Amino acid sequence: MNAITKNLGSVIPVSSDPWKLRTLTDTILRMIWSENQVSRIEIAKRMGLARSTVTEIVKELINSGFVVEVGTGESKGGRRPIVLEFQHEMHCIIGVDIGATHISVAMTDLRGNMIHWEERKHPVRSDPEGSLKLVFELCDLCLAGRKTPSQKLLGIGVALPSPIDPVHPGWISELVLPAWHGRNEIELLGQKYGVPVYVDNDANLGAIAEHRWGAGRGVNDLIYIKLSHGVGAGFILGGEIYRGASGAAGEIGHFPIDIYGKRCVCGMRGCLVNYVGADALKIRARQLFEEYPESVLAGQNPRIRDIEDAAINGDTLAVRVVREAAEYIGIAIAGWLNLMNPSMVILGGDLARTGDLLTDPLHEKSRNCALVKSVENIQIKISELGSQAIALGAATLVIEEVFAEPNILRQRTHPGVI
Ligand SMILES: [Zn+2]
Repeated sequence: MNAITKNLGSVIPVSSDPWKLRTLTDTILRMIWSENQVSRIEIAKRMGLARSTVTEIVKELINSGFVVEVGTGESKGGRRPIVLEFQHEMHCIIGVDIGATHISVAMTDLRGNMIHWEERKHPVRSDPEGSLKLVFELCDLCLAGRKTPSQKLLGIGVALPSPIDPVHPGWISELVLPAWHGRNEIELLGQKYGVPVYVDNDANLGAIAEHRWGAGRGVNDLIYIKLSHGVGAGFILGGEIYRGASGAAGEIGHFPIDIYGKRCVCGMRGCLVNYVGADALKIRARQLFEEYPESVLAGQNPRIRDIEDAAINGDTLAVRVVREAAEYIGIAIAGWLNLMNPSMVILGGDLARTGDLLTDPLHEKSRNCALVKSVENIQIKISELGSQAIALGAATLVIEEVFAEPNILRQRTHPGVI
């Protein structure tokens, strides 16, 4: 029994160094994937290898079906080089986003292209059994949407709105999802589909997705903030996700804004989530009804979407709710800007649709609360991937693991697997 099959049916801790590669073949395989199109000559030049060595290895990769020749490239003197291309549609990946009140499932190819998408509202917090049943149902729908039945599933990534313990990645925090505490049914996904399952925190996966495919492409130091029922952040530092010693990095929702403020579920006072979490925003909107009787929201029981729509249409109450939220986030991230000096903040989740109404006051507040040098080059952007960011990040986590352990690819490339 090898390492991969031994791990089926259990949630696998993600690699501490996902790009650590084992062999020359694996390195070349990843380079062809990463570049999409590259020639043997280019590979030999970049890796300092003899052309004959590259030719031998590429021959093996072509025979395995991972790589094909797709014509000739531009000549830089001498013969035109043959261009190699990675076969990213040969396999598929599933990314599952389990939120507090929704479940989304993405199926992608190995380049993160969306093949199929499913999403449903569901009371995830109070219904673990029903939630898992729904995850299975949506995964089945995605697999039925494969381009061809021969497109093999390589793995499943799962996003949870909870810190993920690197030693027990399938176990879920009782603070965030009390009904799920101590349950590790995520492992059932691996057993049902016969593939490795990887789990990470949702904001970490949003950061990974935006860094690789979205607003943060080419940016090596960024923070992604997800506003929802909870508030979380994912840090990309030096081009890699930073998870912290016990998987709790980025718990910005429990950053204290006011040490004399409201008591939080975590036991502390004045945490950010109590000011900008979905419930707090709805309460704040209702508190302002008296002051803004002309507001379209006045007398209603507004949802976050209603507050967003009203703000976009210039409703002064809604604009104030968004501005106040932006200012609280600005205070929370100012310290992080001083400590880490990132070049980008990406906002996803609730209120992201309000665009400049959110980013402008956030920018101003962080500028007022952080050192000039820490904020002079900061870009504050709205997520490009929107509501698909987290599930896409879960799929991307699997892609990164596949290229850290390409044997997963080799094992899934024979007939008979799902
Ligand atoms: Zn708290």
